Amino acid sequence: MIHIEKLNKSFGDLHVLKNIDFDVNKKEVVVLIGASGSGKSTLLRCLNFLEVKDDGIITIDGREIDPKKDNLNGVRQKVGMVFQHFHLFPHKTVLQNVMEAQTYVKKLSKEEAGKEGKALLEKVGLQDKADVYPNQLSGGQKQRVAIARSLAMKPEIMLFDEPTSALDPELVGEVLSTMKELANEGMTMVVVTHEMGFAREVADRVVYMHDGKIVETGKPKDIFDSPKEERTKAFLSSIL
Ligand code: ADP
Ligand code: MG
Repeated sequence: MIHIEKLNKSFGDLHVLKNIDFDVNKKEVVVLIGASGSGKSTLLRCLNFLEVKDDGIITIDGREIDPKKDNLNGVRQKVGMVFQHFHLFPHKTVLQNVMEAQTYVKKLSKEEAGKEGKALLEKVGLQDKADVYPNQLSGGQKQRVAIARSLAMKPEIMLFDEPTSALDPELVGEVLSTMKELANEGMTMVVVTHEMGFAREVADRVVYMHDGKIVETGKPKDIFDSPKEERTKAFLSSIL
């Protein structure tokens, strides 16, 4: 589903992604871990073309994407992204937030978009919040709306960049269960998170990044219980 070869990205003199090779299979859930500043967000943003790579190959669903030539809005429909901060429209209701993309991008009628929007809200357990405004929601509820809104584009891949890091601890679980359901339904997912319980339970593979490089990758059990690289060991002992 995703194939990356020798991806490089710098910001000025700062070489952030260094020759990254990275593949994700259809329906696979990959959890990306690593210290702050190691390049995790930049990697996700390159995958969603919010950042333009310097060089290397990015193939999505069998098609190599050239950010300079391709219609990136078309590509972004295939690759949904959920951020740490929810970026909901404050002056739109929950349902309008979810419908936005469907009416503007997918050109669905209001009626169709409303129907699909409600189904998506039901999926994330917020059908009773359709008509309230984001400021009436808890952080966990806001993030579930953001997930529903992203799903409205019918993406084939979902990227999550620390989706629970801004939440109070008691609200983390509801967002993780929504993500887990999505994984069980066969969504292809790349998740940056510090929630190691989620990684153990849901990830097919864990990828550890350090200083712009992928240092180690493996099944959650192998990475967490018997990491091979010293760097990985040091990182895990710093967070667990
Ligand atoms: P992570 O998500 O693993 O914490 P990031 O990908 O956000 O890491 O950042 C990697 C490095 O790139 C950091 O040193 C960060 O300061 C730098 N960086 C990220 N985005 C930009 C940007 N738009 N301009 C300049 N430097 C950036
Ligand atoms: Mg980040």
